[in-house]
Amino acid sequence: MSKINTLLKQNNDYLIQNYKRFDISFVSGKNSTLKDIDGKKYIDFASGIGVCSLGHSNKAIIKTITKQSNKLLHTSNLFHIKPQIKLAKKINQLIKPAMKNAKSFFCNSGAEANEAAIKIARKYGNNQNANMLNKHQKYEIITLKNSFHGRTCATLKACGQSGMHIDSFAPYIDGFRYANNIEDIYNKITPKTCAVMIELIKGEGGLKAHNIKQIQKLSKFLKKQDILLICDEVQSGAYRSGEFVCAINYGIKADIITLAKGLGGGVGIGAVVTNIKDAFSYGEHGSTFGGNFLSVSVANSVLDELEKLKNSSAIDKTIKLFDNELNKILQKYPQIFASSSGMGLMRGLIINDTANEHIANKNKDYSINDVLNDILRLALKNNLILLRSGKNVVRFLPPINIKEKEIKKGFKNLNQAVQALTS
Ligand code: PLP
Repeated sequence: MSKINTLLKQNNDYLIQNYKRFDISFVSGKNSTLKDIDGKKYIDFASGIGVCSLGHSNKAIIKTITKQSNKLLHTSNLFHIKPQIKLAKKINQLIKPAMKNAKSFFCNSGAEANEAAIKIARKYGNNQNANMLNKHQKYEIITLKNSFHGRTCATLKACGQSGMHIDSFAPYIDGFRYANNIEDIYNKITPKTCAVMIELIKGEGGLKAHNIKQIQKLSKFLKKQDILLICDEVQSGAYRSGEFVCAINYGIKADIITLAKGLGGGVGIGAVVTNIKDAFSYGEHGSTFGGNFLSVSVANSVLDELEKLKNSSAIDKTIKLFDNELNKILQKYPQIFASSSGMGLMRGLIINDTANEHIANKNKDYSINDVLNDILRLALKNNLILLRSGKNVVRFLPPINIKEKEIKKGFKNLNQAVQALTS
């Protein structure tokens, strides 16, 4: 049996089958290049779904993990953790344009960060009403259609995707309302609304970056109404948008910002960042693993490295280069791609509505979704890792420190994949 077939069998025998996986397994990586079990090399335009912000085998991360694991990995939050305080201070400084006087709570993932944000918003809303007869009535959170906020019971219900709210998991937590778009948020506000939670760029829902003017208007309106603005920056945060958080690109102030993914560069970490006073009191929230020595030390190194790249204009240069290459593909295949979307190094190529008519040897049921699936499949065949977003978008989340030659090679491979599909 081949190496991959052995893995496939064991995967079926021992793992719960909740993931549809490609029949590939990686064994090592360097910068933005991964090597699979058979020695084949791939350019990584996915960074483990936006996680490996410094690529693979990054020297600074290796050094920190080695050094920290020789000292301490975990003590619990019963004790003070110096690198945790250092990370919170760093976030407080980097996030200033979008939030003054920010404090952080650290957890282990994006969903956990959003869970904490939901609790903080509910507490804030309910306490506004605490002296009224009808207390505990200001708890509703408005999210957007096609949004994605996580897989826990509360964050799953927060996702604006009815297809995810399957009956098997019922009953769901009450208190989420879904707006069709930014303008529709105003229609969904009720006296019970405590917060609006949005992804400024929808990561799973099509890579659409919202209109800046609309977001600025919304942010001002919510402030006046004393309704909180939660920016879910689990995917867009930690410099993926080109700034530390995407709220900075939008020139807005947020009340709560959640981070995860790229913050840890491959080590699990989540953060809820807020300037709400007494967001949690003693005992109201916690995490055994959250903010442990390993994850926060690595996150400190990741932010140090990313900050250096930002200050030397290397991130802006990489964004420009990536944008150029993306546009070349867009122009070369207008029958396949309608437009590009996203921001920074969180980008998408939107598949043309009639792209399925331009594919060689298609059967009569061949759909846009099939085009997307085939692009991802052929990209892998041509040594390139890509992602999807929604039903019609090819998603690009390359490591933020991806090298020029890796970008060029990746797009060359994409070109070969699209050519193979169309000829
Ligand atoms: N929020 C956003 C915007 C995400 O993209 C994701 C994951 O893709 C999550 C939340 C959930 O993060 P995690 O998978 O770390 O729980």
